[in-house]
Amino acid sequence: MAAEEKPVTCDICRKGRVLKRMEEMAFRQSSDKGYVRCQVMVLIGTCEACGAKSLDPGSTKILDDAFQSEYAKLRTHQ
Ligand SMILES: [Zn+2]
Repeated sequence: MAAEEKPVTCDICRKGRVLKRMEEMAFRQSSDKGYVRCQVMVLIGTCEACGAKSLDPGSTKILDDAFQSEYAKLRTHQ
């Protein structure tokens, strides 16, 4: 994986630099089997100036994959 070292400026305040780091994120999403709880490590950008958090664009696939695998577990447990 090629690392991009381009500094990212915050979209909210347009002043701060966005620092990216891996963070654990828990979320739940409804499905036809009820709520599916997921916990993933994703790349989250935090603005140094205003503290706004943003998810890395590539992370939506990680969230989706986590949901799919948790959902599959629910189905096999029944
Ligand atoms: Zn900001």
